[in-house]
Amino acid sequence: MTRGSPTSLWRPYTQMKLAAPPLEAVATHGTRIRLADGRELVDGVASWWTAVHGYNHPHIAEAVSRQLSAMPHVMFGGLSHAPAESLAKRLAALLPGDLDHVFFSDSGSVAVEVALKMAAQYWLNRGIAGRTKVLAFRGGYHGDTMGAMSVCDPEEGMHRRFGAWLPEQIFCDLSRTEAEIRSLDATLAHHRDVLAAVIVEPLVQGAGGMRMHPPEVLATIDRLAKRHGIPLIADEIFTGFGRTGSLFACEQAGIVPDIVCLSKALTGGTMTLAATVARTEIFSAFWSDDPAAALMHGPTFMANPLACAAANASLDLFEREPRLAQAQAIGERLADGLADLHGRPGIADIRVLGAIGCVQFDHAPDLATLKERLLARGVWVRPFGDILYLTPALTIDAADLDRLIEAVVQAACDELAPGDG
Ligand SMILES: *Cc1c(COP(=O)(O)O)cnc(C)c1O
Repeated sequence: MTRGSPTSLWRPYTQMKLAAPPLEAVATHGTRIRLADGRELVDGVASWWTAVHGYNHPHIAEAVSRQLSAMPHVMFGGLSHAPAESLAKRLAALLPGDLDHVFFSDSGSVAVEVALKMAAQYWLNRGIAGRTKVLAFRGGYHGDTMGAMSVCDPEEGMHRRFGAWLPEQIFCDLSRTEAEIRSLDATLAHHRDVLAAVIVEPLVQGAGGMRMHPPEVLATIDRLAKRHGIPLIADEIFTGFGRTGSLFACEQAGIVPDIVCLSKALTGGTMTLAATVARTEIFSAFWSDDPAAALMHGPTFMANPLACAAANASLDLFEREPRLAQAQAIGERLADGLADLHGRPGIADIRVLGAIGCVQFDHAPDLATLKERLLARGVWVRPFGDILYLTPALTIDAADLDRLIEAVVQAACDELAPGDG
């Protein structure tokens, strides 16, 4: 495909007429992506944060291949299977508190849709009408489907474009300051009779710009939601499975949200799968002699056995291998390596949490140039907006991690002083 030539393949978030053609990937292994032209790139993104154990992990590959011979898929209406039963049990055991009731779907956005529907129907099933709104936080990202978009940051393009399609929600700033905490408290009090839920990305707003907040902020949101009797949805799709240094980000605040959304790294980046997990209090509102009180959702490929097998194998690896220690070690190396950029003119912020490192410019860089510079250094890193970030596989070795850090630091320096680099 050449630039501007129409093609049968429609790419994500891409102006097809203007964008450079994509690179052709032919193989992956560990933390490397091999291209058709023979180049091998060190991967700094882990394919949108999914491939936490690196690519083609043999334990996951074996589990999927075994499942493929036995039963690649079977409908989930009226049928069940061991991979799903076991995965649900394991997720319930790993999540804090009584987050014990697992509903599977096939992508993160759908897990968020299910969470929103669950919250809405929770109130309806209890005979309480009119609770049709969600309180969400500015800077958040929860997916691309209509309901999920409605709780994404309202200033981002999607609201402006699709505003008329989206249910109107209520937005607050993340409660960092005393004034913001008071404001959230007042907003919850004011709207409590129309609110079905509060939704938050715990500790890191990922796709919205890798903005981090301390556990106390999350604990405050949880406390205020509970004070006003409004269920809290924690969207752990980005943060879940070790990315922030704990298996789930909520653990660091010691909170038990009412509903948790999981996807991205759930299968170790192998298959598409998502889960919406509810506490017993939520599930109980659906436990009834009334068939109409059942949760009204059921994706065709729900609990796909291949995906469940991959997820079970991924959880085995979290049990057997020191992923959380690896995440923390990556964080230390990132903090160290990116420290050189601190305070440089043109740099707005450097931040690190768990295995996430982020360089924020004080201006919007030319992304095409920045991407070219990164590629020229043999790394796969995808800057967006005003940020350049690294979210490598938790298994990345020191040499590849150093190459990523060096490439990011050099690309940032070139951006700040073009010609000097
Ligand atoms: C990626 C993401 C989603 C959407 O997941 P998809 O699988 O892309 O639909 C939702 N919430 C968060 C926090 C995410 O990072």
